[in-house]
Amino acid sequence: MKNRVNFFNLVIDFLKDEKFIQMVNPDKSDSMENLKMTSVKRIALIAHDNKKTELIEWAVYNRIALSRHKLCATGTTGKLLEKALGQSVTKYLSGPLGGDQQIGALIAERKVDILIFFWDPMEAQPHDPDIKALLRLGAVWNIPIACDRATADFLLTSPLMFQEYEIVLPDYSRYLKRALK
Ligand code: PGA
Repeated sequence: MKNRVNFFNLVIDFLKDEKFIQMVNPDKSDSMENLKMTSVKRIALIAHDNKKTELIEWAVYNRIALSRHKLCATGTTGKLLEKALGQSVTKYLSGPLGGDQQIGALIAERKVDILIFFWDPMEAQPHDPDIKALLRLGAVWNIPIACDRATADFLLTSPLMFQEYEIVLPDYSRYLKRALK
């Protein structure tokens, strides 16, 4: 009898085991692995109109470092960068037309490693909610974000820019497994 109880306890432990649950119910949204950045980083760049000159100046000054990475940007920023750097830039929609949200989606899909976002602190934007959403997603996925030139300088001169780096994700498992009424 005791042996039977032990056997059943073993079976129950096995059924409750995290690995078994994942095996029979592989829910992709629950399996969030840390992101391993390679030495070539995928950098998204965005600048509001009053900040475009500053971003372009910064990018031209750092053109050699930037040329070793893959760049993407919102529409107008991307066009200006491409022209100034002579480097190809993947361009999305203009920010107010959905470009910020597209880049936010890329962050959530783990397709952007770093965000350089010179937003304008002196002027309200028509797409303020999108800007907030983008910055929020950057924090959710723990990616490095520079919102001004000084931070962008520190970021780009970090030795980690040219090394592999593992982004350690906050633990969202409790949130994903929360009880719903
Ligand atoms: P833009 O968008 O690069 O198309 O000007 C930037 C923004 O305002 O988000």
